Amino acid sequence: MNAPTRYAEALLTGMLGTFGLDVQYVRAEQNSLYYLDDTGTEVPVLDLIGGWGSLMLGHNHPEIVAYAKELLDTGWPVHSQHSAHPVADQVGAVLNGILGREFPGAEPYSIGFANSGAEAVEAAVKHCEFDRVLRMQSLVREIEWHADVALRAVREGSAALPDDTSLLPGEVPVPTTVEEFAGVLGAMAAHNLSRAGAGPVFFALERAFHGKLMGSTQFTYNPLFRAAFAALGSTVTFVPANDAAAFEKAVAEHRVTVLDVEVVHGRVTLVERAFPVIAGLIVEPIQGEGGIHELTEEFGARVRRICDEVECPIVVDEIQTGMGRTGRFFASSHIGLLGDYYVLGKSLGGGIAKSSAILVRQSRYRPEFELVHSSTFAKDGFSTAIALRTLDLLEADDGAAYARAAERGGRILGMLRELAAEFPDVVADVRGRGLLIGLEFADQSNASSPIIRGKAQAGLLVFQLGSYLQAVHRIRTGPTASVPTMLRIEPSICISDEEIDRLRTGLTQVCLILRNQDALPLVHP
Ligand code: PMP
Repeated sequence: MNAPTRYAEALLTGMLGTFGLDVQYVRAEQNSLYYLDDTGTEVPVLDLIGGWGSLMLGHNHPEIVAYAKELLDTGWPVHSQHSAHPVADQVGAVLNGILGREFPGAEPYSIGFANSGAEAVEAAVKHCEFDRVLRMQSLVREIEWHADVALRAVREGSAALPDDTSLLPGEVPVPTTVEEFAGVLGAMAAHNLSRAGAGPVFFALERAFHGKLMGSTQFTYNPLFRAAFAALGSTVTFVPANDAAAFEKAVAEHRVTVLDVEVVHGRVTLVERAFPVIAGLIVEPIQGEGGIHELTEEFGARVRRICDEVECPIVVDEIQTGMGRTGRFFASSHIGLLGDYYVLGKSLGGGIAKSSAILVRQSRYRPEFELVHSSTFAKDGFSTAIALRTLDLLEADDGAAYARAAERGGRILGMLRELAAEFPDVVADVRGRGLLIGLEFADQSNASSPIIRGKAQAGLLVFQLGSYLQAVHRIRTGPTASVPTMLRIEPSICISDEEIDRLRTGLTQVCLILRNQDALPLVHP
């Protein structure tokens, strides 16, 4: 029988096929995906990549599945836009409770919902820009008001004319009459207007990943995902992670000032004011797709200080790191970095619903945003209820799920570090925290085995190793979106000792293959 024509991502599925990864799974439970072999028998595959991080609680968690059925069976409204949504408020309340616990003293955050991680990133970025535009407008109004006050004061004789106009471009003479002063104010307004088009300036970190939609892809560092679409969005300035001095320099380079007038000691005086050109900085506390790189506490603290000085909001993208995967609900709490915005996704939907959320610190929140931003499916009754139940499960027993993520992650990391010590010639690094782990192999682009060398040079060695793990050991791992030498491991909190042992066995064989340059098992598993 001919293979059916493929309509959905035929190229990608074909590529997966060359690695034996185009398996059709027919059932999923906890840490396993099942496919049918030639005899129709279910074959389990240990899934260590779990929806790329969306399955903290494993596939089809029984309580979430039962709750989803109950919602549907009882006719719970799924689509009821423009009505009260107390469940969405409850999700906000639980998340605020967690924020208060992990960041004592944090002020309340308002919550908004979206459908995917990238969409939530875009909502956050949009809110940052909305806030910047409103700040800009109020600054312009304030300066106009000051100019009026100054002109009146000069006319009435209660303030002297300015004796210094050097802040204005183009050698504007010092005014000697009220009329000339009005001209100075006009020059000031023209100068300010010339600055009004500046910005928005957004900062992100090198190696960052924040999604692949038209706006969010501008914040994703890898040119593979960004370059072709650069003209579709605003330019983002990338700075190296953990280099606060580089960030400080970039901020200084982008600063823009406008002119204002004040009455100082009875004289009208021209002063410079910072123009809100900087719209925001977005960071992942642990860069996931970029190769599992953690921000340092020192970087977090300095960045917070710099951003406070220039009123630059910090968006903390916890789409991959959040929901407890790293042993705390917010990975940023490990380094004490309190964001002005948080973005959550992936496991927020409990592995069943599609949901994402943005949290905005209330002192920065612009309620008018609710009138200009919405989506048909965001904040729907089903996904918010599932999100609430997921949070309940994570928070149960004093956050036992987070402790388990830390403990299981520690065990896997310990095992991988033993492997790295045993195979220092082939394992370059083991990085991660909790259940967000990367195993980086040494570069094999000069390997003696032509097969290993060829795959490494094509940037496909991790696919070949993943293919071997899948075919021989029935273990599913994944690549990251940027590091061609890294296997990514992001299992659910249910992973057992036996499953970790299976991973060790499989990876030991991988290391032996690389050490012995014996590619045969890779091509004929
Ligand atoms: N931000 C981060 C940190 C991510 O890891 C991802 C997905 N890997 C996204 C944003 C985009 O999420 P989604 O795929 O749901 O659009």
